Amino acid sequence: MAASRSVSLRPEIAALPAYVPGARPTRGRQVYKLSSNELPFPLLPPVGAALADAGVELNRYPDMYAAELTEALGERLGVPAEKIVVGNGSVAVLSHILAAVCRPGDEVVMPWRSFEAYPIAVPVAGAVAVQVPVDDAGRHDLDALHDAITDQTRVVLLCSPNNPTGPALTQTEVREFLTSVPPDVLVVLDEAYLEFVRIEDPTDGIALLPEHKNLVVLRTFSKAYGLAGLRVGYSVSRRRLATGIRAASTPFGVNAMAQAGALAALSAMETVHERVAQVVAERDRVVAALAEQGWQIPDPQGNFVWLELGRRSAAFAATARDRGVLVRPFDGEGVRVSVGEPEGNDLFLDIAADWIADRAPLANA
Ligand SMILES: *Cc1c(COP(=O)(O)O)cnc(C)c1O
Repeated sequence: MAASRSVSLRPEIAALPAYVPGARPTRGRQVYKLSSNELPFPLLPPVGAALADAGVELNRYPDMYAAELTEALGERLGVPAEKIVVGNGSVAVLSHILAAVCRPGDEVVMPWRSFEAYPIAVPVAGAVAVQVPVDDAGRHDLDALHDAITDQTRVVLLCSPNNPTGPALTQTEVREFLTSVPPDVLVVLDEAYLEFVRIEDPTDGIALLPEHKNLVVLRTFSKAYGLAGLRVGYSVSRRRLATGIRAASTPFGVNAMAQAGALAALSAMETVHERVAQVVAERDRVVAALAEQGWQIPDPQGNFVWLELGRRSAAFAATARDRGVLVRPFDGEGVRVSVGEPEGNDLFLDIAADWIADRAPLANA
């Protein structure tokens, strides 16, 4: 009798979509990995040395609250360190935020298509995801997001620039949205790609914190700092929320190497800005070339572009892979291509040109 019983998973966990990571290169073949929005540069110079030093003391637990790192971040951002909570990537911080505020069955309103970690994190926290389609230009539909808020809504997620479609919100849009949201609904503004934004009136979530108690800003070392493998992200919010998020966090969640590496990265801001500028210049070059080829794409404000290929997304990704470029297909919707090193971008542009040349006669037929 007892032998036939087994542990059951919570139904919402059993039903979860798996997070699909960007394709990884197979050994021994030159490929350009444009599938995970990583930076194509080697480690920032001071980071390597800091990691080597930190590695000597791995028999010790790290500083539980990463005091040195949060102090340094606080100084850079002009906020007290108590308002900052670091975690094992900003994805982990998002989970801690949801764990801190969501009761079973609470609703979390989010744009969709957006970051694929969102619809996984929400049910794990026991909440229910309410997805609001982005518009035809890949932008958040802020009116529809607002209209989706009910008495059950605990959190609204905003992603600017939106991964994977690319457009960014303006500060004015976010401020107006915050003003329209009930003060007991938490708004999470995910600014993972903030450094790459080149629009008028870009968002700066931290500047909105004094006006809006119900805002949490997420940022990360994974993108502009080129430290995706180290896993460090953080939230900035009012103290009371920060205390709750910290309480819900994994103890010692940011390991000693990650703390040391992120701290060292903050001492190399000039190089960070130079590298971001190089990526933005390459992005502009890619956008111009795609337009010349006849592609229509949403305004890319992160380090990636979005090709809305619908049912041909998987085929495009397979073609690109055969020619040495890994991209990220979302089948039935589109393909996200990160801006990488110039040679990789050139190869992607060749593939895109051949693809559109092959299809154009069909489209006109
Ligand atoms: C890449 C990305 C992050 C960063 O996640 P980490 O866990 O910090 O690596 C967060 N949000 C979005 C939308 C992203 O695309």
